[in-house]
Parts: sequence; structure tokens; C-alpha cells
Amino acid sequence: MDEVTLHIWGMEFNVVALLVAVAVLGGIAGYFISRLRPRKDSSHQPSNPSEDYTAFLEGIHYILANDRDQAIEAFTRAVQINSETIETYVALGNLFRAKGEIDRAIRIRQSILIRQKVDPTTKLQALFDLAMDYKQGGFLQRAAFTFEEVIRRAPKRLDAYVELEALYEATREWQRAYELQREISKLSNTNNQHVLAHLRTEQAKTEMNSGNLDSAKGYLKKALSLDSRCVDAHLHLGEVYWLKNRKKKALSIWRELVRSNSQWAHLVLTRLEEKDGKPADEGRIVNFLENVDGENLDASARLALARCFMQRDLKEKSLAALRLALEMEPDLGEARKMLGDILLEDGDGEDAINEYRELLSHLGPSRKRYRCQKCGWETDKILWKCPACHNWDTVQPRKTSGD
Ligand SMILES: [Zn+2]
Repeated sequence: MDEVTLHIWGMEFNVVALLVAVAVLGGIAGYFISRLRPRKDSSHQPSNPSEDYTAFLEGIHYILANDRDQAIEAFTRAVQINSETIETYVALGNLFRAKGEIDRAIRIRQSILIRQKVDPTTKLQALFDLAMDYKQGGFLQRAAFTFEEVIRRAPKRLDAYVELEALYEATREWQRAYELQREISKLSNTNNQHVLAHLRTEQAKTEMNSGNLDSAKGYLKKALSLDSRCVDAHLHLGEVYWLKNRKKKALSIWRELVRSNSQWAHLVLTRLEEKDGKPADEGRIVNFLENVDGENLDASARLALARCFMQRDLKEKSLAALRLALEMEPDLGEARKMLGDILLEDGDGEDAINEYRELLSHLGPSRKRYRCQKCGWETDKILWKCPACHNWDTVQPRKTSGD
């Protein structure tokens, strides 16, 4: 919760909406309904008919003043005077969660869930809130179990599917995440094929880590049938073929990826840098590199290409790739350092010193390599899902001209 919002009924209210939604609907209606209903226990009479409501309003006042402790105190007083206004409990539970007092928040939800006279809608919301409490408290298994119960009771409740899917992504349970994502797509009537493709790709990576290459290949093909532009699926399908010792097929997949989408060429080339070139494959790899050299590559890809050439003792090609990279991006420090190192090794001291001098003049706060096109979050490591805005495929390589 930030300073002006509070989560109630699974939605985010600002303070004004909160005042309307909770105070007016919850407080007044709850209060009057509780008064209209004949009491079984005539000995339990509030000392003052408006006392609980006054305490409730006081709680709202403290929320507006951003004083959670006083708000909790006022709401606690309100429920002590009148224990039947569920809205006050809900507000209290949310305040405890916002304060990080998860145990207390959980106890409040549980107290709502075991009450006899609470209507099913309120109980369902309490169950949802309980799952959110578990999630915030880091009890992910319990949170997942509770969200599963929410969607079992309310099979069309989109927010529960969204929360649960995110949980399964966090716990890397890709199959269930995939199933839920399909439900989300149906319920929200949105096309999220690209997300489904990533979930299948993640499933494939798990299979690859367990050495199940055929199973991984199956998932990657499914991923590409969902979204033929899924870069990560192409990268890993190439990797699967490489591991199966089908280098020609691997290289042709990567070649096609670079040809159709050269902004991702650096990922292919960085991957290739790590490969030990067996003598039998060398001719094929060099041929691949020379082909890629003709593409419209960015500076990062040229640097990776230079490294690949250098590993194969193709020094002239490596130098040419580095110079091109530096023309495109003069402050690409790694390229300048590599160029200086090669020149120094060659005994070309003067040119090497010039490169290092250039390098020093370009030293400054390093620019992150990728940026989310949606929220502007920046990173040096490619992530297919932005950790800030949670969108897939929005993190893209930054252009040299500083976008
Ligand atoms: Zn983002």
C-alpha cells in the first residue's frame, strides 16, 4: 500500500474512493443493517448506538491522515463495540497486511471465514484476502492452495487466476501456469499467445536442465506454434539441436533468427562464444559467422562477433568487427578494451595507448543494455518478462542513438 491507496475487496482504492466505498457502503449500511436485525442476545446492547460507527469513521480519518497505527486502534475499538460489521474486519485485515503484520491479518480473515452468518460473497473475498496475506508473508504454497480454492468456488474470478498464475511462475510450476494463462486469456478475452509461448519455453528449459532433450524440443515446437516470433524459443531450439549434436540444424535455426530479427543477434553470438568448436564443426561455424557478418548488426552483436572470430584466430575479421562496433557506439568500453588488448599483443603500442586513452575518455556511468518499452526499467541482462511492470516481451535492446 502506498500513501494514498488501500486494498479493499481485492481492488485498489484511492483515499476518496475508499471513503465512499468503505465508509458509506460498508459503515453506514453495515451499521444500519446490524441495527435493523433483531438481536438474539438482548443482553448485548451497545452503550451508545453510534459509538461503533464513530470509531469506524475515526479509523477512516486516520487512514486519510496516513496514520495506520491509530486507524488500527480505532477499527479495533469499533469491532469491540459492535463485532458484527464485517467491513471493519476487512479494513483491519488490509491494514495489518499493509503494515506487514501478516499473522494478525491472517487471523482476521480466518475469523471471518468461520463466522456463521457471513454471506458467501464476503467469505469468498475473505478467502481471497487470506491468499493475498499468505503471498505477502512468503507462504507461497499456502497462498497457491488458497487461490486454488477461490477459483474452485468462483471459476470466473479473473483476479484470482492472475494472482495464482503469477505464483506458479514464481515457483516455476510452468504447466499449471500455462493452464491458468489459458483461462486468463478466455476470461479476459485477450490474445496472450506470446505469454503462452514463453511459458512453454520455460517448461522446455526445465526439461533441458534435466537432460530431457526430446521433451524440451516438443515444448519448444509448441511454443513456436503459439508464437513464431518467440526469440527465446528459437534460441533454445537451436541449443537443443546443438546438444543433440545436430550442429547444422542448430546453426540454421540461429541463422534464421538473426536474419529475421537482427536486434537479437548478440544473444545468438554470445551463446556461440561459449561453445567449444570441435574441429569437425569449425568450418561450419566460421561460415555461419561470416554470413552473420553481412547482416545489419548492432554494436553489441559486432562485439560478440569479434570475440567469436578471435577465438578462431581470425584476428583481422575480429578487428574489423570491433572497429565497426565502435563506430556505432564509441562508448562501448568492452569493445575498446578488447581492441586495445589485441593491438598491445601485436606490439602496436602507440595505437593501443590511443585506444586506452579513448577508453578513459568514454568512461562514465555505464548505460544499461536493455530497456522496457512499457515502463522504462533498465537492465544489463535480457529478461523476457519485465520485473517492474510484469509485461512479457517489452524489454528490448537499447538503440545506439539512446532511446
Ligand atoms: Zn516494464
